[in-house]
Amino acid sequence: MLPKVYFAPAGGQPGRGNVEKIHMLFKEAGFAEVIHERDLTAVKCHFGERGCTSFVSPALLRPLVADIIEQGARPFLTDTGCLYFSGRTNARDHLIIAAEHGFSPEAVLAPIVIADGLRGSDVKAVRLDCKHFETVDVAAAIYDADSLVVSTHVTGHGLTGFAGTIKNLGMGAGGRRMKLAVHDQVRPRIDAEACDMCQGCLENCPAQAISERDGKMFVDTDVCIGCGECLAMCPSRAVRIEWRGNPSEAQEKLAEITAAVLANKKGRVAFFSFLVNVTPSCDCWNYSAAPSVPDIGFMASKDPVAIDQAASDMVMRYLAEESQAREPSAQTKSTFLAGAGTASVRQLVHAQELGLGSREYELVRVGD
Ligand code: SF4
Ligand code: SF4
Repeated sequence: MLPKVYFAPAGGQPGRGNVEKIHMLFKEAGFAEVIHERDLTAVKCHFGERGCTSFVSPALLRPLVADIIEQGARPFLTDTGCLYFSGRTNARDHLIIAAEHGFSPEAVLAPIVIADGLRGSDVKAVRLDCKHFETVDVAAAIYDADSLVVSTHVTGHGLTGFAGTIKNLGMGAGGRRMKLAVHDQVRPRIDAEACDMCQGCLENCPAQAISERDGKMFVDTDVCIGCGECLAMCPSRAVRIEWRGNPSEAQEKLAEITAAVLANKKGRVAFFSFLVNVTPSCDCWNYSAAPSVPDIGFMASKDPVAIDQAASDMVMRYLAEESQAREPSAQTKSTFLAGAGTASVRQLVHAQELGLGSREYELVRVGD
């Protein structure tokens, strides 16, 4: 039997708006079986970088948390710090941004625990013996939780093309060593002939790896952390990626880290994806580009591969329809359209090879 992905379209009518649809999906997807009374339930989410406005809002997370509490569990919201210098590099600064973005216990009914500790060193090693990793560092608060609800904002991504559940966990539930390993293979180069010196990449590089030298933009590859943001945001498509090794490896690494995160949570995980504000870059950036497609809706499943495949299929279908009416933005082209049909498929194929789930699924519509 194919795994089910439950889908509710965004928007609604009086008495059946997005909040009611989130409650409906929680019930239909059978998440009550996953969360037990007195569980410490980690809700893996993203609080957004300072300046980002497209993250999943507290108002949309609240019904999900309310349903977890209704099972008698004790949820906490969680995420890990990021690699580079930003507002979320350590837990103290991360909590301040979360508060600025409205993630208070009053708004979302749960406190926040930064999963990998003050400086990102609080991890548990999980033995995996896979293609890329013998052990994976999993953020301790996620490892130690009794159950896990993965709240994913579906977006594009400079490095992975499509960013869904597997990218959320593979990049956001592992320790620093894992984040470095995923970014390890990407180094950009700027094509001086295509570059119009708009300075956009220089201003937005989180590692301050880009500078102007002799009238040209220059990338210091020793400083670059391989995030792919310059590629995603360049309006002139002047940034070329030079891969160290096979581009598929980053996608496979994300799947393997996800496998380690889920290893001690068999039957105790629920996946919920928000296909609203589907921007071409993820919520780690200090801005939000215009969405690539109109708001699509919400998905719930117990299968992380099926929910990502369903979300990717739906975003690509909307993009195909949209692009008949207007030209997709440069960012949309360099993330979703460059990645979703090619490299990011490897992420899902490898996740399926690892036994995480199925790329074939049955879509069940609710809340129409
Ligand atoms: S964003 Fe693109 S066009 Fe602008 S300076 Fe950087 S490489 Fe050149
Ligand atoms: S990939 Fe681009 S934006 Fe990211 S750190 Fe390297 S130079 Fe900066």
